[in-house]
Amino acid sequence: MFSEDEIRHHFPILDRKINGQPLVYLDNAATTQKPMEVLFASKHYYEAMNSNIHRGTHYLARLATEGFEKARKTVADHLNAASTDEIIFTSGTTDGINLVADVLALSGTIGAGDEILISTLEHHSNIVPWQMLCQRTGAELKVIPCDDDGVLDQEGFRALLNGRTKVLAIGWISNAFGTVHPVAEMTAAAKAAGVPYVLLDAAQATPHVKMDVQAVGADFVALSGHKVYANTGIGVLWGRADVLNALPPWRGGGEMIKEVTFAGTTYNDLPFKYEAGTPNIEGAIALEAALDFVNQIGVGEIAAHEHDLIQAAAAGLAEIPDVRLYGPADRAGALSFNIAGIHHYDLGTLLDQMGVAVRTGHHCCQPLMARFGISGTTRASFAVYNTLADVEIFVASVRKAVGMLR
Ligand code: PMP
Repeated sequence: MFSEDEIRHHFPILDRKINGQPLVYLDNAATTQKPMEVLFASKHYYEAMNSNIHRGTHYLARLATEGFEKARKTVADHLNAASTDEIIFTSGTTDGINLVADVLALSGTIGAGDEILISTLEHHSNIVPWQMLCQRTGAELKVIPCDDDGVLDQEGFRALLNGRTKVLAIGWISNAFGTVHPVAEMTAAAKAAGVPYVLLDAAQATPHVKMDVQAVGADFVALSGHKVYANTGIGVLWGRADVLNALPPWRGGGEMIKEVTFAGTTYNDLPFKYEAGTPNIEGAIALEAALDFVNQIGVGEIAAHEHDLIQAAAAGLAEIPDVRLYGPADRAGALSFNIAGIHHYDLGTLLDQMGVAVRTGHHCCQPLMARFGISGTTRASFAVYNTLADVEIFVASVRKAVGMLR
């Protein structure tokens, strides 16, 4: 059963007062707050387990190694990966996408005249690494258009697929508008057209969708721990083992090698081939705690709860004169809007004074903002611990702020 009170007690920061008012935290698409389970896992790691992994013969080194590899297994199970070999710990989504883009550039399989297909709704993290790959390889960036609801144009997408398309790289859920893209269908269409590599940016999907990487059929899925109640600085790149095995290594250093001589180096097997240097051991263990927390409640239950909140917030905002909501009606996680004649930054500043934390600006999606002819939006984004009371305070605060700004 889902008890709001019980859930909120797991998050100590929610007891904070901001500007003398109870905190209404609606900036979850930027980062989520952390439950006690995650805070405890981090603290416990340093108090009872801290050591470097994979190399030591001593007790703590074994303990830390076991903890780190157990976390990898939990992540693999959570994503329904075929094997723990496919789980690469990274520092986050940005890191994972850069890994893939760099390695594909190094692989020599992408060249002049090839095309990289992304969408209008991408976060800068899923644009810039591909632009950099294009600069290195001579490939060209192509962009799937979207309609006025921020929904990807599927006909436009299919028309862009051709024999030169080497990569399809798209988000799963838009951080700016909350659009849920039909990623399994789009992956299937890309594969049917012979696209060798499909990458999904799952930064926003991780907290809201039960992901099954085998069912969705992509080659790579990148995510960030901090969007799903874990620490910053830890993330995961899932990659299909046969694909990763065929690609060159990325960063060089310790852990990613089998044997080093001055004449040359042989590289380690997956997943270590892509984990050069000391990883974020504590972060991986905290991520495991976060996934355990999420799975105890159920990703489906969390998504249904957030869906109710977002619908209530959208309905409340829609009653405010001159409001423009962005994204489709069935958005997930995030709700973006503008109010004619009011700058999103001014609105966000007043909301902050009322204890309501929202995000304003371009949300790292400047090309999407350009598509809509705006400099940014105000975005409320939801998590498991938000309540209908939060939504009511949020909508009432927007109304009050509008009254003050007009
Ligand atoms: N993609 C999307 C859709 C995101 O929302 C974010 C974070 N805002 C990122 C990528 C980048 O994630 P990180 O900063 O954790 O690497």
